[in-house]
Amino acid sequence: MSKSDAQLSAIIDDVVRRNPAEPEFHQAVHEVLGCLGPVLDKHPEYVDQKVVERICEPERQVMFRVPWMTDSGEVRVNRGFRVEFNSQLGPYKGGLRFHPTVTLGTIKFLGFEQVFKNAITGQRIGGGKGGSDFDPKGRSDNEVMRFCQSFMTELYRYLGEHTDVPAGDIGVGGREIGYLFGQYKRITNRYESGVLTGKGLGWGGALVRTEATGYGTTFFVSEMLKVRGRSLDGQTVVISGSGNVAIYAIEKVTQLGGQVVACSDSSGYVHDPKGIDLDLLKQIKEVERGRVSDYAERRGGAAKFVQGSSIWQIPCTVALPCATQNELNEDDARALVSNGVIAVAEGANMPSTPEAVKVFQDAGVAFGPGKAANAGGVATSGLEMQQNHSRDRWSFEYTEEKLLQIMRCIHNLAYETAEEYGVPGDYVLGANIAGFVQVADAMMAMGLV
Ligand code: GLU
Repeated sequence: MSKSDAQLSAIIDDVVRRNPAEPEFHQAVHEVLGCLGPVLDKHPEYVDQKVVERICEPERQVMFRVPWMTDSGEVRVNRGFRVEFNSQLGPYKGGLRFHPTVTLGTIKFLGFEQVFKNAITGQRIGGGKGGSDFDPKGRSDNEVMRFCQSFMTELYRYLGEHTDVPAGDIGVGGREIGYLFGQYKRITNRYESGVLTGKGLGWGGALVRTEATGYGTTFFVSEMLKVRGRSLDGQTVVISGSGNVAIYAIEKVTQLGGQVVACSDSSGYVHDPKGIDLDLLKQIKEVERGRVSDYAERRGGAAKFVQGSSIWQIPCTVALPCATQNELNEDDARALVSNGVIAVAEGANMPSTPEAVKVFQDAGVAFGPGKAANAGGVATSGLEMQQNHSRDRWSFEYTEEKLLQIMRCIHNLAYETAEEYGVPGDYVLGANIAGFVQVADAMMAMGLV
């Protein structure tokens, strides 16, 4: 073990010790720090100044009570979180996740990922993340509104267009952003468009933001295929999830000539060998807020719903995990490899376990980690902020072209950084090093922050 690797491993041990019972945060730190040995060899000043130790410690973490009332008059209490991880490159930026499994550790892992992801977008945004263990499933619009109003009544004091700019994530979409923005505006008496992104198109939102994560992941996988002399045209694609990221990945893959044969939700997956009917899926998920089992039912005999088993058993040449963290394990990766997968890009945050990533890399599969492949969402939030600041509105075509260029830049940055450090084709290493160096240099320049 080199001196730098030994130093990094001591830092990881310390992070684990000081942040007990946060396995996802440990996993995210492990993945990034595992790539930094060659960087520390080159930059002893980062070691002297304890840059890695500082980056692993959030600048600020807030946790707060969120009381609200159900339609039947019962009082409920949830916990709210905002982890403001790093503001070296710009205001804290990152989504809010509403899901019953959310803990401080979940938000810390997501915030840590966001720091490096946001750095490589080139949009000059820092990293943060927030959310709650609130479960929006089965809740009425009024209940969701009351919850969002209560959540923002506490959170607003930490936000600001130059301070911290939340957006959506799992369980937080256009409806929730509307309720949150409305409450922020009432409390502060400021029409501060740039304080949240993912807003409605009629009140400060940006075209392409809804589509951006799924489109961006698709652009990223296209770039990885291009390096190998291939394209998405004619590929058989499996996409897990059926939320915002998955839906717009299905849309863009289909536009680029790929055939998406499966998607999923927490209850199971649908296999639709002739290709997912996107209009039907959008109607069920976006309008009716239904389940993929409803999709299979309404597709008649064309699609089959399979409860509880792994979507990754379905043969495909391209796989896009777009559901949630650690949804794709070592066995799944082996099944994908033996079925001939050539490229995997993560639309979700950290959907592949470390063992699964190793299987892909050992098998020579092109693997795009989430912090590069799903950065199109937050990058387009950066474009929304630009439009808010200048009171401008860009067309769909113009914005989509910008997103495409950003995804190409991210791909090339990760690819070239991996080459520079002698591990060509390792997008995990490339993205982690490229993001880290930008943040580390800014920290060095700003004194002991
Ligand atoms: N939640 C998204 C992500 O994981 C988007 C965050 C944003 O737009 O700020 O990157």
